[in-house]
Amino acid sequence: MSETSPDTSVEVTNVAVASRVAFAAWVDEALDVRTFGQVLIRPSASGAYCLRHRDDAEAVNLTFYDKPWDAREIARLTESGQHRPLKSSPNLRRGWELRVSGTVALAVAMNYLYPAGIVHWYLYREGQLRITNYRENAARQSGIYKRVQHLSDEGVQNAAKACCEDAVCLKKTLWDVDPETTLEIDRGEGEIPCPEPCSVFVSFARRIRLFERETKRGLDAAGFSLSEKEDLAALVEAGAAGVIRLAREAEFEEPLNERRLRYRKLTLLPKLRTAQDASSHEC
Ligand code: SF4
Repeated sequence: MSETSPDTSVEVTNVAVASRVAFAAWVDEALDVRTFGQVLIRPSASGAYCLRHRDDAEAVNLTFYDKPWDAREIARLTESGQHRPLKSSPNLRRGWELRVSGTVALAVAMNYLYPAGIVHWYLYREGQLRITNYRENAARQSGIYKRVQHLSDEGVQNAAKACCEDAVCLKKTLWDVDPETTLEIDRGEGEIPCPEPCSVFVSFARRIRLFERETKRGLDAAGFSLSEKEDLAALVEAGAAGVIRLAREAEFEEPLNERRLRYRKLTLLPKLRTAQDASSHEC
């Protein structure tokens, strides 16, 4: 994609067409099926494409859909009916099959399932995907998100481990902290590239920055912050009740949010282990 093109709309259209054609050719070349995110795509000689959840490869009794825009409804909610703020989370519901005809319909369906996924996939393959590092992205934030500019490098690293690895997001993380600081995480094996921190990540980074500020303001005599103790208390309470019901995906203010707990595993668990070791040596 040329950055000097005088007509940006023509450029965008060209990239959309080129990515759609390249993606369909990639699927057509498959011996059997292709997997993109959690979607299995099976091409047929007639130019039709059969899409279903990858875990439903051999399933029968699926609900059939035949309009590319049905993918929007398929992608909207999780199995348990919760909104999916991040379409690349590995929580696409199962139980459906979508049959579409032609490359345009395939691209429309894929764009509902993974917004911008095939354009980014195409640009990455062509070596033309622009990558924006964390600091560049943070510099553009305003309002309540402006504070993510002050998140430490360590905070960015831990936030990315908690928020971006394959267990919680199937995109391949391509961005770094800044040009000199590599993001040291498992970047994932998926086909869909992630060229810059998304809005869910920025919101999570804001929460991690709040934790950093809390730590700077002071910890209790045992070395724990108020929110760390709140999270532990919430876990104990939920465990004692016999049900650990996780908060919604982007509710980072909630103690039982999965990404927040993943962050605690990286930062709180080592502290607890150290405290445990110290007290066992005292005995
Ligand atoms: S920033 Fe992280 S969570 Fe967001 S899409 Fe990229 S890899 Fe996924």
